[in-house]
Amino acid sequence: MNKVVIVTGGSRGIGAATSRLLAEQGYGVCVNYRSRSAEAEALVADITARGGRAFAHAADVSQEGEVPGLFNAAEQVLGPVTHLVNNAGMLAPQARLAEMELARFARVLNVNVIGCFLCCREAARRMEGGGAIVNVSSVAARTGSPNEYVDYAAAKGAIDTLTRGLSLELAAAGIRVNGVRPGFIHTEMHADGGEPGRVARLSPQIPLQRGGRPEEVAAAIAWLLSDAASYVTGSFIDIAGGR
Ligand code: NAP
Repeated sequence: MNKVVIVTGGSRGIGAATSRLLAEQGYGVCVNYRSRSAEAEALVADITARGGRAFAHAADVSQEGEVPGLFNAAEQVLGPVTHLVNNAGMLAPQARLAEMELARFARVLNVNVIGCFLCCREAARRMEGGGAIVNVSSVAARTGSPNEYVDYAAAKGAIDTLTRGLSLELAAAGIRVNGVRPGFIHTEMHADGGEPGRVARLSPQIPLQRGGRPEEVAAAIAWLLSDAASYVTGSFIDIAGGR
């Protein structure tokens, strides 16, 4: 079987670790990103140099008009899309809910929830021979992220519910849909929230006493996509050091 995966937000952080691992496992990988082409192209060059198959494609997953083009590109370069990792996500600077602007809340929902919905919908329409989807949620869906990112936590809660419902809709079609919930992982995302050192600050509160590595999340995603998880759908793996 020619395994072809789209990894949204695949150019950096958890997405990049996932793209690398899946390429090593023989998938053709479409590395999606929004705007930072240098990181995406460097990752693709590295995967290709190691004998893998990958290419980069820019698309804002929250834009309805850009998602079909992402799937078309993957199909043209690599073949029919059989697997999808909805990893693209973002957060806004730390703030209490009372101080949040509507525009910010809407942007966070658009990228995290609408982006996931649009890519799931495209996959559901195209994966005729079955397939597997992993949605990247967050432990924030459980904790609510008070005083920092209630908007982001609410978006991740929506992703969990969407994952559960879609898994039931698509089960009979042979498409498995699962989720991962990372905890505090060392990536650049925390700088976008205004605190690059956030993971180090919070490490003492993590039962395993450290932040996670992107590769540790990638391993769980790859397992859920794989045939080893052939009887797993509508499930979630927390990768959060015990949080
Ligand atoms: P990151 O390092 O900030 O990387 C974000 C990636 O998403 C980049 O490739 C970025 O592309 C892409 N992206 C952002 N908005 C996009 C859009 N609208 N359309 C397409 N691509 C977009 O993030 P990360 O920390 O690896 O997080 C990855 C996922 O894990 C997210 O869903 C996040 O919510 C989740 N997560 C992370 C943590 C953590 O502690 N890091 C914890 C729980 C959950 P550009 O490079 O072009 O900007």
